[in-house]
Amino acid sequence: MVKAMTVQVNWAGNLTYRATAVHRPGSVEELRELVARSPRIRALGTRHSFNELGDSPAELVELGGLPPVIEVDSAAATARIGGGLRYADVGRHLDERGFALRNLGSLPHISVAGACATGTHGSGVGNANLSASVAAVELITAEGDLVTLKRGDDGFDGAVVGLGALGVVVSQTLDLVPSFQVRQRVYEGLPLESLFPKFQEIVSGAYSVSLFTDWRGPAINQVWVKRRDGEPAVEIPAEPADGPRHPVPGMAPDSCTEQGDVPGPWYERLPHFRPDRIPSAGDELQSEYMIDASDAVAALAALAAIREHIAPVLLICEIRTIAADRLWLSPCHERDSVALHFTWISDTPAVLPAVAKIEEALAPFAPRPHWAKIFLTPPDDLRPRYTRLPDFLALARDLDPSGKFRNPFTEKYLFA
Ligand SMILES: Cc1cc2nc3c(=O)[nH]c(=O)nc-3n(C[C@H](O)[C@H](O)[C@H](O)COP(=O)(O)OP(=O)(O)OC[C@H]3O[C@@H](n4cnc5c(N)ncnc54)[C@H](O)[C@@H]3O)c2cc1C
Repeated sequence: MVKAMTVQVNWAGNLTYRATAVHRPGSVEELRELVARSPRIRALGTRHSFNELGDSPAELVELGGLPPVIEVDSAAATARIGGGLRYADVGRHLDERGFALRNLGSLPHISVAGACATGTHGSGVGNANLSASVAAVELITAEGDLVTLKRGDDGFDGAVVGLGALGVVVSQTLDLVPSFQVRQRVYEGLPLESLFPKFQEIVSGAYSVSLFTDWRGPAINQVWVKRRDGEPAVEIPAEPADGPRHPVPGMAPDSCTEQGDVPGPWYERLPHFRPDRIPSAGDELQSEYMIDASDAVAALAALAAIREHIAPVLLICEIRTIAADRLWLSPCHERDSVALHFTWISDTPAVLPAVAKIEEALAPFAPRPHWAKIFLTPPDDLRPRYTRLPDFLALARDLDPSGKFRNPFTEKYLFA
């Protein structure tokens, strides 16, 4: 067992972990023993979260040293994926066996377990978040027991978006679909006045659609359309880009997945960024809010009205759609959602006033913030937005009676 680390930071560099140690077990048995004997421990993924959710006041354990399990069950159309693997580790493997994951987030560098633990999502009106593809979760609970919860079992809908608070996920079984090809095309310059009357039509026009704006004007800078090969081309009232584009104005597009309507496998088109490059801007912070899809135009109008507060500290804003799911702590729980995402400059004091302004503007829409990004919503406002939170707390008390997997973030937002 490797035990390392005094000081480490998250991907964005805005969080220095307070944890006293990060363990890296080499087997599930070692991991079980570690969890059983540790008084306080949490799982750490690939450290892509922007807030204290991923930290621990005591110990952390990362799963990158576990054997890399990818077990495809072709008859059931599922794959059991080890807790240490990233989406980048599994895409090609599944594709070679004729399968795909239904959707992916903007970058493949994140761990599957960490993404599903926080309700990470991609885009598409017919696509639920990545956690919704989990058919079974195998986790180590407080006493070191290995527990499997399958879809339909009591507590399963609470265990998938578990925020690390229920135990350490050693594997997840994911639903697969037949492999597919995707064509990606970027359009530029869509005024809000053209978008608003056709919002639903535009976001429903292809398998996955993302809108990007820097809020420097009342317009969408870019529309990223990812359509399944064979799906008809959607009419976008904007100009097709004359070359590859990065969503952040002025950044070179070489870290982005191939555009220009060239067909390619799902795992090389659904993410915006390539696995072998630094994704996004690299030096950045992020916030994101999920609202009811039917409020999208009203919410965008509310943001447009405060854009002079947003634009100076913004690198780019992305608008995506996500289908509802049944998972208790999913930000899309029982609500078809529109996600309003903000990639900020890397300057927390400058960014927080803009975050506060956005939360004020979006308050009428009862937004659910992305669990892993920066938000200011008071816990008392947040908790009622999760109607199954009491069930989640009961599940947590059952699986983790001593609070071994809690940290200040989960104490504040969930348990207090
Ligand atoms: C550049 C960038 C782009 C992003 N793009 C998107 C996007 O497109 N869509 C989106 O929704 N989000 C996006 N995110 C956010 C990201 O998906 C989440 O922060 C996600 O949780 C990161 O996973 P991780 O493995 O890095 O988790 P970490 O940050 O390491 O941990 C996050 C949480 O997951 C828990 N966890 C991790 N592994 C396990 C495990 N094995 N068992 C139990 N709990 C575990 C941790 O305890 C913690 O609570 C992006 C982040 C970055 C930095």
